[in-house]
Amino acid sequence: MLARFVRGSTFRGQLSIAVALGVVLLALCSSLVSSWQGSRQIRATLLAQGEGIAVNLASRSELALVFAAPENAADAIASTLVFPEVIAVEIRDADNRLLVARGVGLPAQELQGSRPLQSGLEAETEDAWRFVAPVWAARGAPTPFEMTEQRAELLGYVRVVQSKSTLMRMQRNVFFVNLAVSLSFALAFLLLVRLLSARLTRPLAELSGAMLRAERGEPDVQARLSGPHDIEAMAHAFNRMIAVLREREDELERHRDHLEELVVARTAELSEAKERAEVANLAKSEFLARMSHELRTPLNAILGYAQLLRMGDSLTPRQASGLDTIRSSGEHLLTLIVDILDLSRIEAGKAELYLSEVALPAFLRGIADIIRIKAEEKALSFVLDSAPDVPPVLRADEKRLRQVLLNLLGNAVKFTDKGEVRLVVRVVSREGDQVRLRFEVRDTGVGIPADQLEQIFLPFEQAGEVHRRFGGTGLGLAISRQLVRLMGGDIHTESTQGQGSVFWFDAAFATADAAVQAQHSLRLPAGYEGERRRVLVVDDVGGNRRMLADLLSTLGFEVEEAADGAAALRCIGVRMPDLVLMDMAMPVMDGLETTRRLRAEPAWSALPVVMVSANASAADRARCLDAGATAFIPKPVNRDALLDVMAQRLGLTWRFEPVSDAK
Ligand code: ADP
Repeated sequence: MLARFVRGSTFRGQLSIAVALGVVLLALCSSLVSSWQGSRQIRATLLAQGEGIAVNLASRSELALVFAAPENAADAIASTLVFPEVIAVEIRDADNRLLVARGVGLPAQELQGSRPLQSGLEAETEDAWRFVAPVWAARGAPTPFEMTEQRAELLGYVRVVQSKSTLMRMQRNVFFVNLAVSLSFALAFLLLVRLLSARLTRPLAELSGAMLRAERGEPDVQARLSGPHDIEAMAHAFNRMIAVLREREDELERHRDHLEELVVARTAELSEAKERAEVANLAKSEFLARMSHELRTPLNAILGYAQLLRMGDSLTPRQASGLDTIRSSGEHLLTLIVDILDLSRIEAGKAELYLSEVALPAFLRGIADIIRIKAEEKALSFVLDSAPDVPPVLRADEKRLRQVLLNLLGNAVKFTDKGEVRLVVRVVSREGDQVRLRFEVRDTGVGIPADQLEQIFLPFEQAGEVHRRFGGTGLGLAISRQLVRLMGGDIHTESTQGQGSVFWFDAAFATADAAVQAQHSLRLPAGYEGERRRVLVVDDVGGNRRMLADLLSTLGFEVEEAADGAAALRCIGVRMPDLVLMDMAMPVMDGLETTRRLRAEPAWSALPVVMVSANASAADRARCLDAGATAFIPKPVNRDALLDVMAQRLGLTWRFEPVSDAK
């Protein structure tokens, strides 16, 4: 506990305690010693005084003893008892018989046989002394010399009992006076020590206070220069340290302020630039979307009519070839528009993969059929080399995968004059129901210069001879690479000029149940089995409407037309069709609202509504399906896709004619 106290208290406190303890001990010791010394002296004095009183009384008791008359000693006894310390007196004869006794009696038996010849202290108790003095009979007037020589006769004894109370009182007084004096000195000393230590510790306390304030972060803390030299030096060093710290802090602050200004300025610049870029990008996307819509709508009508006219059998060869040119040019234009839109949409991160079950062998056969025709036109051989262990069905974005493969294979055919074009499909790895496939397109064509191997993936970059560039947009590889990246892979290429090129990519797919195999036909149906079906075509653009109506009526459908949603509802009210083909964007009442109203009517709620829109994003598709549409087809309407959906919704079986023109 003491140790804890010592540790916890200040230097000044510790010093005071030590000094106080020492001083009190010193005062106690010194007063004990001096009172012991004093009491010894007092005791000697008192003893001498007692003996003197006894001797004096003895000399005055001679007569009383000689005549055995106590009254002779009465005076002497009275004057003896005047001494305050004398508490008892007695006179006895030589045979120890008591002659006179005053005061508290003395025990007689104790004196039996006690015959001292000299005066002195005879006995001592705790609180009294007893002195004895023999009484001699004097013969004449003896000289001091004779006294010692002559044999005097012993008359008796005088005894005086003297109390020790004076001794004790004086002892006490001496002790307390001593103690008081030493304590006063001690106190004075203690005060002095405290004053001195205060002088010593105040600067220290001030210094530590200053340090504490500096630590708390008070500005401009200065230690006072005072106290002993050492401490003053310390305070001085502390002040210097604080000054240096302050300087550094100021410097840091200046840097920070500057940095903040810089950051604020840069951030403002950046956010402005970002805003500008975003606005520009939005404008670009909007422009592209509008443009593609504006261009595709009339183009759609042109292509549809060309397609339709080509199906007629009263054409002269010139007309037929003219129609073919219209169609191929229109298709190229459409490709260009679609490609530009496609690329900008992919680059804006808006492209998504639409996965469905794809029967891989049929899918590859379909591609091979198309490429083989093109290859044979150039007397090239085409080989489809698909490993036997490739999964029969997998989940993929069929359209996008086909797009990539057709692009690579189309390039291979385009840039090869002799030899072969080969499509190799291999399984790279398999894990659970995940499979990683490698698609490889090899050709024995002109090859690509090494320094252009990367460049050809940039939009509008075309390498090699100019005449081969015709018909290409320079966008194919750029789009393909983005699409493959979307599938989680990348396109790689290797080429030796004059010997040929290889393009390959890996992509991961989930394998799917072989039972879910899509039926794909590359042939054009001529009609369908069973009773005649009624289709209502709703579109505000007359050309589009009539193109679809003509296509459907040649296939044997009964077609009705409506120019907006309200007209469509009236039409359905009169006579219920089997299926509605509805444009999404229309004046008066758009496709979404019309569909919602149809769905609200129990009688019409099961009527299949196929929504057609130029806005082919996932959000638009979702909006259509939310409104109650049965299916969604993007514009321009792909004939096969439309016929697939209709066959599915109406449960049709197509009637085919012998293959004429496979796309
Ligand atoms: P294009 O529409 O011109 O084919 P692509 O982006 O598909 O555009 O191709 C870009 C360029 O890459 C082509 O113009 C051609 O120079 C080169 N290229 C692509 N594939 C091959 C190939 N198999 N052999 C040689 N050159 C090729």
